[in-house]
Amino acid sequence: MKSAEIRDTFLKFFESKGHQIVASSSLVPHDDPTLLFTNAGMNQFKDVFLGFDKRPYTRATTSQKCVRAGGKHNDLENVGYTARHHTFFEMLGNFSFGDYFKRDAITYAWELLTDVFKLPKDKLWVTVYAEDDEAYDIWTREVGVPAERVIRIGDNKGARYASDNFWMMGDTGPCGPCTEIFYDHGPDIWGGPPGSPEEDGDRYIEIWNNVFMQFNRDEAGVMHPLPKPSVDTGMGLERISAVLQHVHANYEIDLFQRLIAAAARETSGADMDSPSLRVLADHIRACSFLIADGVIPGNEGRGYVLRRIIRRAIRHGYKLGARAAFFHKMVADLVAEMGAAYPELKAGERRIADVLRQEEERFFATIENGMAIVEAELAAMETAGNKVFDGDTAFKLHDTYGFPLDLTADICRERGVTVDAVAFDAAMARQKEQARAAGKFRMAANLEYEGPQTTFHGYERLEEKGSILALYKDG
Ligand code: ATP
Ligand code: MG
Ligand code: MG
Ligand code: MG
Repeated sequence: MKSAEIRDTFLKFFESKGHQIVASSSLVPHDDPTLLFTNAGMNQFKDVFLGFDKRPYTRATTSQKCVRAGGKHNDLENVGYTARHHTFFEMLGNFSFGDYFKRDAITYAWELLTDVFKLPKDKLWVTVYAEDDEAYDIWTREVGVPAERVIRIGDNKGARYASDNFWMMGDTGPCGPCTEIFYDHGPDIWGGPPGSPEEDGDRYIEIWNNVFMQFNRDEAGVMHPLPKPSVDTGMGLERISAVLQHVHANYEIDLFQRLIAAAARETSGADMDSPSLRVLADHIRACSFLIADGVIPGNEGRGYVLRRIIRRAIRHGYKLGARAAFFHKMVADLVAEMGAAYPELKAGERRIADVLRQEEERFFATIENGMAIVEAELAAMETAGNKVFDGDTAFKLHDTYGFPLDLTADICRERGVTVDAVAFDAAMARQKEQARAAGKFRMAANLEYEGPQTTFHGYERLEEKGSILALYKDG
């Protein structure tokens, strides 16, 4: 089954269960300062869950564009390293606004997976929130999943394992306990069932999360009950496609083949298994969809996240041999692959390619010299047996050559070393201090100055630097 057909089958299934098909919202959240980019299907319904907004329907289904490259859910560092994470992906979801709750949510999910998609039941594993006996009983007694494949997991913050069955959109907002469905890709792949120490492997892959929305979390962390218990689910289109297309990694599904071929074509014939090709295929989607939704590369906020993704892509292209702007040439391939499902891509094609090309030309002007510094430092480290990349050098790369810290860290990770982020921060703070001192001096000088006023860039620059740090730390 092709991805397009899977998307369609999902929406039609929930339509047949009385759900209104609603279009994806923009990647730039509407009027929500708590959110960097749309990170889940429920974002556009946040106010409906909270009871501030009413819709003419109580059940909805969507295929939502999501970007997880900053904020609470950040997968940028996973791309190229796991089989299942993208920065941009499509989340299929069904929603109940005070309509059905746990029982229907669970039985709909099971019906779609096992009756419609015909997944083998013995390959499906389920997690429930540790204290949620109701969900546990529905799974084991009503649906009939054997108890050994239904695992109770808490919101074990700071606990041994990474699993977390209490879903939150961000630090504040709608949240609740959840139940998740995993698919076992088989013993050839490393990894353990959810809740085990090896759960971060890619054998048991989470395909679907069903959240029982019950609370609104405020700034102080206090949970206020929502007006009506609701349901919010999310299933990654790419992950369910991998299962249904009998491949393991998301990058092996139909949607990615043209993009990976385009990445190879534009970067002088790399080894087709290179993770860099996957990174490029991932990043062209994120960058193009973000630009289509109005984000422009810049030095702060959303624009800076976009710039960082573009520069990471360029660096991967550079690694594969590209020495001049190439990334924007992949836009046409993306439009050919996804333009029918997302007309904004087709409509924005020229502009997207232009924005990328300009950004590429800027970075190609400094990347060569920057990479020479990186290589020299790495060589010196190897001779000295040093495993930590110097923070002042990382700062110089950032400040003079346009290498965001996470880009330098990405290169270091490939070589098995880390960056001294503390020293990087200290160098950044020193520069801020100097800029502040220079700003004060200039303001004092301006008091006696009668001619045209000099433009003061100090604060702008401070803010810009501040947000760079904040964003990096956020990740
Ligand atoms: P994981 O544990 O694998 O990182 P998650 O628990 O963070 O996933 P949820 O927030 O529960 O993910 O999102 C709902 C669904 O969206 C997931 O079950 C998965 O199918 C899909 N999904 C989440 N993150 C990504 C991603 N970065 N790329 C592709 N699909 C994703
Ligand atoms: Mg995650
Ligand atoms: Mg998870
Ligand atoms: Mg999850």
